[in-house]
Amino acid sequence: MVNLAAIKRTLLKHIGILTSGGDSPGMNACIRAVVRSAIASELQVTGIMRGYQGMIESDFVQMDGRSVSNIVQRGGTILKSARSKDFFSAAGRSKAFSNIQSLGIDALVVIGGDGTFRGAEEFRKEYGIRSIGVPGTIDNDLAGTDYTLGFDTAINTAVDSIDKIRDTANSHDRLFFVEVMGRHSGHIALSVGLASGAESILLPETVTDVNALVASLRSGGNRNKSSNIVVVSEGDEAGGAFKMAEEVRKLAPEYDTRVTVLGHIQRGGAPSAFDRILGTRLGVAAVEGLISGKSDVMAGLINNQVVFTPYATCVSASHAPDPELIRLAYLTSI
Ligand code: ATP
Repeated sequence: MVNLAAIKRTLLKHIGILTSGGDSPGMNACIRAVVRSAIASELQVTGIMRGYQGMIESDFVQMDGRSVSNIVQRGGTILKSARSKDFFSAAGRSKAFSNIQSLGIDALVVIGGDGTFRGAEEFRKEYGIRSIGVPGTIDNDLAGTDYTLGFDTAINTAVDSIDKIRDTANSHDRLFFVEVMGRHSGHIALSVGLASGAESILLPETVTDVNALVASLRSGGNRNKSSNIVVVSEGDEAGGAFKMAEEVRKLAPEYDTRVTVLGHIQRGGAPSAFDRILGTRLGVAAVEGLISGKSDVMAGLINNQVVFTPYATCVSASHAPDPELIRLAYLTSI
């Protein structure tokens, strides 16, 4: 009997790895896992710098077991990341293919978000280069995984900051609007709001009613609070934290309001233990998936099991915040 798995295995000799789109904590742990597990399977590994742009510009670095020493605890990505305009063009992808072909790379592990997977799928259709994706984005907005790499660290960073804001808000009886990341998704705002005991959480997925927000702040349960924190997702359909604070000031001038935009601190910092372990699990799964012949799938974690989901599903299906968490936030905010 022909052993197809063994044939595919022998065809795979050399993998390339890149990080693309926005960086997220845990990418380095994943790079380490990919490099070391690939080497353990006697594969050669090339690091591709600055995402797809590095393929186009031949910005490559040979990886060995030691090249990924001492990075598991570091935020960011040692391979750097970029958004490559050139890779959107057929000419850019053609250049990328000829560069990786001359090096002998026959499959890729791509760590990034939905755009990164779209690019990888396009590339496989045109040039047959297989790839497996790892969800590297703090937004947690990809279908096919319960958690994306970096989400846990980002929410812990934001909660830590809000705990500090709460101290000063308490001392001055202030109402703070704290904006967290999430242009299209309220996962970060919801988790951060729940964990920091926010009085209200404004998400892109729910309709924000400023009158109802003011009524809720003034309601019996909240009236005697010495501080109020409203967590606002940057993508909230009613506007970000500055806009909301302005609206609330008009309706409720009795509040001493302040605004804090947490911004890029949410992307940085040492990855949490959860993200290091997630990066390790998904990195090893990506290599093992390539060895077994898979392509055009993302390795994710569903119910604590590694699952491979087609790119097409990951980029088209939605991964909305859990309505049960929204209910809990509402119940516990009064
Ligand atoms: P994040 O969630 O952090 O934004 P992302 O992977 O979605 O991460 P994008 O900027 O959307 O980030 O995509 C990363 C890169 O993937 C793009 O800069 C581009 O080089 C490539 N890419 C995205 N979509 C396509 C496409 N349709 N065809 C070719 N390349 C693409």
